[in-house]
Amino acid sequence: MRLTRYFLPVLKETPKEAQIVSHQLMLRAGLIKQQSAGVYVWLPFGLKVLKKIENIIREEQNNAGAIELLMPTMQGADLWRESGRYDDYGLEMLRIKDRHERDLLFGPTAEEVVTDVFRTYVRSYKDLPLNLYNIQWKFRDEIRPRFGVMRGREFLMKDAYSFDIDENGARDSYRKMFLAYLRTFQRMGLRGVPMRADTGPIGGDLSHEFIILAPTGESGVFYDAIYEERDWANAEIDFSNTDTGRKQREELFNEVLQSYAATDEMHDDAEFKAKVPEERRREGRGIEVGHIFFFGEKYSKPMGAKIMGPEGKEINAQMGSYGIGVSRLVGAIIEASHDENGIVWPKEITPFDLGIINLKSGDAECDALCDKLYDIALKAGREPLYDDRNERAGAKFATMDLIGVPTQITIGPRGIQNGVIEIKDRKTQEKKEIPITEFETWLKA
Ligand code: ATP
Ligand code: MG
Repeated sequence: MRLTRYFLPVLKETPKEAQIVSHQLMLRAGLIKQQSAGVYVWLPFGLKVLKKIENIIREEQNNAGAIELLMPTMQGADLWRESGRYDDYGLEMLRIKDRHERDLLFGPTAEEVVTDVFRTYVRSYKDLPLNLYNIQWKFRDEIRPRFGVMRGREFLMKDAYSFDIDENGARDSYRKMFLAYLRTFQRMGLRGVPMRADTGPIGGDLSHEFIILAPTGESGVFYDAIYEERDWANAEIDFSNTDTGRKQREELFNEVLQSYAATDEMHDDAEFKAKVPEERRREGRGIEVGHIFFFGEKYSKPMGAKIMGPEGKEINAQMGSYGIGVSRLVGAIIEASHDENGIVWPKEITPFDLGIINLKSGDAECDALCDKLYDIALKAGREPLYDDRNERAGAKFATMDLIGVPTQITIGPRGIQNGVIEIKDRKTQEKKEIPITEFETWLKA
């Protein structure tokens, strides 16, 4: 992308309305524009980031055997009356009437819709396990939308729903998502620490929040440092529906949960101290980026989502749901990865992986070399952003750092004379020169 042909409205001043750094940087770097309280326009650069995150989540959901569909944002109230939640949900639900005075709502979640899909088509235990997910906008009329996209009113969520014939099956479905989440967050350059969470009236041990550690987080957290160490992105996890797969998942799951991690709501200090040696105990704050839980027949029973079981008797499906805050993650990643100059995108998230800075736009030699390197990068399958604006060098460096491009090359008249270009690492700010002739080899390495 050439910057002169792109739409990247960056701001020089830090907007006063933004209290936390990720919100400030998202406004300054031209990712979002607020439209109304907790509702945002995703500008082109922000949309690219959102899509990167979405794609990692999608790949890992598919890999774990979940199947994507797309459910509507507008849901009929009748389904919610069947489950009993229409009256229970409260003021967070945005209720709407259509021209025929029928009650609609903007979905805050989709248990009812997916249960209705299930009961319409699935008849036999032989069709299970089944896990259906979508990545769709949700609306919750939060009492206090704040911190930009971290607590918005309209936000993008990945929500998956599992259906099993019994609790054992549901536990396995839960473990699949649990392990997929560990991989998903690590691929984004994050550590999603699974913390025991409240299961509400259903009880049991199958509810976890995945928390990103950050000082601005809304929850207090207590955990074993071990959760920051294990490499999940490269772990071999068998997601197949075989006995070996199920056994491996159970072992991994139990191993991960051997130690201690909990949010302040569920914290038990005595247990924390008993389980975690002092040097490994960590306390801090965290951002909830995902929440998974098992809720059995809560929806399948009132909504009649029955299937024929192996013994020829009808049984209610055992369900679980698995959310990830896709748009919240954009803010969470920035909270976890930035410095005084701006965003530092992890490699898997950055929309542009190579910045090209032309120190003297308008100079025939500089322009020609920049064009050439830009083409080489494109042909090598890279996503370069070429700052070809007629701006001072300082402004170009500042923009490239603000928007967080991980690797940046600088081309200027002096370098050309010496046959070199400069390469800078965004994170470490380390610079080195390489011969122009070696650009292609360097790119491939
Ligand atoms: P919270 O306690 O933060 O309100 P929740 O328990 O209501 O979250 P879930 O219903 O489990 O959240 O939704 C799944 C995920 O959606 C959450 O883990 C979070 O990442 C994201 N999410 C929830 N509410 C919002 C919001 N208002 N803005 C952005 N993301 C949200
Ligand atoms: Mg909430």
